[in-house]
Amino acid sequence: MPLTKPLSENYDVIIIGGAIMGASTAWFLTEQPDFDGRVLVVDRDMSYENTSTMHANSCMRQQFSTELNVRISQFAADFVKNLRNYMGGDSRVPDLSIQSFGYMYLADTQAFADVLRACQTVQHRAGAATQLMSAEEIKAAYPFYNVDDILLGSINHVDEGYWDAIAVFDWWRRSARERGVEFIENEAVAMTKTAAGDRVQSVTLASGDVVSCGQVVNASGPRATRTSQMAGIVLPVEPRKRYSWVFSAQTPLDRPLPLTIDPSGVHVRENGGGTYQAGAHSDVDPAVDYDDFTMDHAIWQDHVWPVLATRIPQFEAIKVQTEWAGHYAMNTFDHNAIMGAHTEVENFFFLNGFSGHGLQQSPAMGRGTAELLVHGAYQTLDMSEFNYDRIPAGRKIVETAVI
Ligand SMILES: Cc1cc2nc3c(=O)[nH]c(=O)nc-3n(C[C@H](O)[C@H](O)[C@H](O)COP(=O)(O)OP(=O)(O)OC[C@H]3O[C@@H](n4cnc5c(N)ncnc54)[C@H](O)[C@@H]3O)c2cc1C
Repeated sequence: MPLTKPLSENYDVIIIGGAIMGASTAWFLTEQPDFDGRVLVVDRDMSYENTSTMHANSCMRQQFSTELNVRISQFAADFVKNLRNYMGGDSRVPDLSIQSFGYMYLADTQAFADVLRACQTVQHRAGAATQLMSAEEIKAAYPFYNVDDILLGSINHVDEGYWDAIAVFDWWRRSARERGVEFIENEAVAMTKTAAGDRVQSVTLASGDVVSCGQVVNASGPRATRTSQMAGIVLPVEPRKRYSWVFSAQTPLDRPLPLTIDPSGVHVRENGGGTYQAGAHSDVDPAVDYDDFTMDHAIWQDHVWPVLATRIPQFEAIKVQTEWAGHYAMNTFDHNAIMGAHTEVENFFFLNGFSGHGLQQSPAMGRGTAELLVHGAYQTLDMSEFNYDRIPAGRKIVETAVI
């Protein structure tokens, strides 16, 4: 049974949300040589069963439209491939790798082909190995695709594909706990601020416990807006439903299927053993209730399956094995991470709005947030572009490569 009561009444850092972002931040705090403060991680459900983290596709890519997002994924790749070294050489830590089947973006319009070309320039500048492919080249490399309507494809086979995010998540929690971070199952329900309103003083938990804090981190995923509201802060993040299906094919493909992003928005990837994983969302994409994980079976039948069978005719005969609905924490302002301290409530830090690419960003985000908490500035990769202050200033960093 997880602990529910905090052992102390005050902490240097309280992290609200202990899934991948909260766990990463906690662990990177323990890596900071100049920090020996008390850290409390509070999570309302330590089974994590309804988190974005547990509902994800678990892939990483270098194909982003901003250089910073490419660099963030490069650190993720390095971290995953060298997990044991990063964890101090601990022999219990597994060797992880990335199954680099690549992401295949398919363009069926000149406008989208131009976007892919512009993205490739950005990605090359940052050192990514993205290749553009004509329809004929795609067909030669992957004969199973129907490319009749395709003008251009974009793929990268270096550090792009599936990785075991849950193994990294587990090791961050385990190691952070061994190094003295406290993880409790409880819910943050309210905060008090100083009379001037410039600092959070304490966090009230559902159990009635009140814990005072030096700094507080909002790592609450799709519930981030609720956590911000406790400090009187408005945040443009909302839960958006994303459906996933794992299916088997009667005639499996003869080579690994890249994570293919069809122009319709449906995506599908290799899942091993003759199975594949597809994802999609409804045409109308409203904010949903925090606890709404119901499936919409019509989406598979009327939309996803027909799209798959058209793009890959071998997928005419397939059988769904499992399916689930999860939530993106969608940043409705510009689909990018929101980080750093609030402009007025100076000890309130954001780690929010990952809009479907947070797993791969978790190593860089946790490291960067730990640096901000301890040093007040980034020490490695400068991620100040993602500061919260861009929102009141109306300064968007639009990420066009959102899946
Ligand atoms: C279908 C799907 C596919 C995805 N695929 C990928 C992918 O391939 N690659 C990728 O990089 N990303 C992917 N993502 C995105 C990724 O899963 C998320 O960006 C990432 O998991 C965000 O982690 P988090 O810790 O911020 O949020 P979450 O995992 O949602 O965790 C938030 C935590 O906060 C806790 N919490 C909330 N409010 C409170 C409170 N008041 N008190 C205490 N605890 C609280 C919750 O219980 C939860 O444990 C996908 C997401 C989905 C839904």
